[in-house]
Order: sequence, then structure tokens, then C-alpha cells
Amino acid sequence: MQADYIIIGAGSAGCVLANRLTENPGTRVLLIEAGGRDWNPLIHIPAGFFKMLDHDTLTWKFRSEPDPGTNGRAIVYTRGRVIGGSSSINGLIYIRGQPEDYGADGFAAISLCAGKSASLMRVRWPPAIGS
Ligand SMILES: Cc1cc2nc3c(=O)[nH]c(=O)nc-3n(C[C@H](O)[C@H](O)[C@H](O)COP(=O)(O)OP(=O)(O)OC[C@H]3O[C@@H](n4cnc5c(N)ncnc54)[C@H](O)[C@@H]3O)c2cc1C
Repeated sequence: MQADYIIIGAGSAGCVLANRLTENPGTRVLLIEAGGRDWNPLIHIPAGFFKMLDHDTLTWKFRSEPDPGTNGRAIVYTRGRVIGGSSSINGLIYIRGQPEDYGADGFAAISLCAGKSASLMRVRWPPAIGS
């Protein structure tokens, strides 16, 4: 098999990247995911969210290191291991950033968004929700 790009992880970022790259039909993309298909009903039932936080197959079952700040406890650190990655098991909460988050003094100053104006960021955000 030959590919122009190999993407490791079919999570939020990997799927978006694969989708964008394959907008050009001449570009071949190999998208590799450690987890399985997103068939599990828990993914598609809103209340299933709570049953997936430490799921045996849908997550990586990560734990934090025990820490004095948590009274020596290791805390569950949920990350998705399935097509769609953590976005397949997340809470679907959408919070739109404040314009100042993307201004010269905000997040934009330390990110790839640097130099982009708040109005441009609105255009690039999901058009169905953007104003
Ligand atoms: C429980 C939970 C609730 C959340 N709720 C919200 C919310 O309501 N709103 C919101 O905006 N955000 C939420 N988030 C955060 C959001 O889901 C993540 O920030 C986002 O999905 C991360 O995207 P990503 O592409 O960086 O990683 P992921 O989507 O996690 O994708 C990484 C992918 O790479 C795969 N992978 C890793 N290593 C390998 C390997 N070696 N080989 C092959 N594949 C590999 C993984 O299995 C996974 O599928 C939540 C996250 C969690 C865990």
C-alpha cells in the first residue's frame, strides 16, 4: 500500500486532517487507529457518556500518578480509543471562544492563530453555528 500521508490516530484531529487532505482526490491518505469502529450503543446514547469514562475497550484506561494533592489517589484520565477518538466519548459541549481569546493579547499570541483577527476566526469556525 502506498500513501502520500500517514496519520496516526483517527480522533478529532486525525479525522479532520484526513478529510481535508482527501478533498483532493489525487491525495492518498492512510489513517491508522488503535481502537475499533464506533458501533457501541453507548457512544450514540447521550446518557452513555457516563459509562464510557473508564470503559475497557473504548478508552485507554489511563491513570494519573498518585499524588499528595489527591491524597495519594490515582485519578482516571479518560482518553478515547475508538474511531473518532475522544470526540466519540465526549460530552458534546460546545463553547464558543470570546473574541478577545483570539486577539493580539490572548491565545492567538501563542498559537497558530497568531495574526488572525477575531472576525476571521468566526468565519473559520463551524459555519452552521457561526454568525
Ligand atoms: C470524557 C471526555 C469528555 C469531553 N467532553 C468534551 C466536550 O464536551 N466538549 C469538547 O469540546 N471537548 C470535550 N472533550 C475533549 C475533546 O474530546 C478532546 O480534546 C479532543 O477529542 C482531542 O482530540 P485529539 O485529536 O487531540 O485526540 P483524540 O480525539 O483523543 O484522538 C486520538 C486518537 O489517536 C488514537 N491513537 C493514540 N495512539 C495511537 C497509536 N499509537 N496508534 C493508533 N492510534 C492511536 C486514539 O485511539 C484516538 O482515537 C472531552 C474529552 C473527554 C475524554
